[in-house]
Amino acid sequence: MKRPLKHAIIPGVVGLFLFSACSKSLLVTPDIPDSSTKTPVTSSEVKAQSTTPVGTVIYTSNGYTLTLTNNDATFDDAERQRLVNTFFTVYPKLLNRFYTGATKKVKFVIDPTYNGVAYTSGAVTTLSAAWFHNHPEDIDVVTHEVMHIVQAYTGGAPGWLTEGIADYARYKYGVNNGPAGWSLPAWNASQNYTDAYRVTARFLVWLELHVRSSIVNDLNTALRTKTYTGSTWSQLTGKSVDQLWADYSQNPAL
Ligand SMILES: [Zn+2]
Repeated sequence: MKRPLKHAIIPGVVGLFLFSACSKSLLVTPDIPDSSTKTPVTSSEVKAQSTTPVGTVIYTSNGYTLTLTNNDATFDDAERQRLVNTFFTVYPKLLNRFYTGATKKVKFVIDPTYNGVAYTSGAVTTLSAAWFHNHPEDIDVVTHEVMHIVQAYTGGAPGWLTEGIADYARYKYGVNNGPAGWSLPAWNASQNYTDAYRVTARFLVWLELHVRSSIVNDLNTALRTKTYTGSTWSQLTGKSVDQLWADYSQNPAL
């Protein structure tokens, strides 16, 4: 397990990601022969065309570089392409909004031995091969993870807020949340803003709609520059985070 650099609450990473994962049962799309040819395709050929070779491939686009190391010989190649495409679609948007100084060189590792969903340390995101075998629509795990790279918080950031902002990013910039069955949960009385992930993300969405439109940018900057404290909320909004949560709880509609 990596040290808690980007996931400030590492012990909860697995469970929390499971919490944020798709609850629907999704089937892996079966291999199908290339429809452009009438030549019968043998099963071995289909497999050769549809799985990603073990090894490292470097992708570049518009100044961004993604180095992908696949360690799973059975990984579906179309799924690999979706993950790569998600990176190149989402990452520049996140960088441009939240931190233009973030690195443009990112590494992905597809790991068949990792039992969680994904984790990010520095500019390296490790993706569980098994998770994407079983949840092929959940490609916006990438969106959440690469937001951690853009965050580039170097310590002291509350884990609940770090993860809440990452799921806010998934909510705003995700490319496949609907088919993945991923959405922000409605408010309920058992929640608190420190719940992290989607609960905190929805609070942030509410705050930007009803209190301060720049709040996520402002919090992100404070966290990255290590100026964030508990009083940051009142500096930005005139109210404490507890007061804001109470207001949210009174009228949580977005
Ligand atoms: Zn995270």
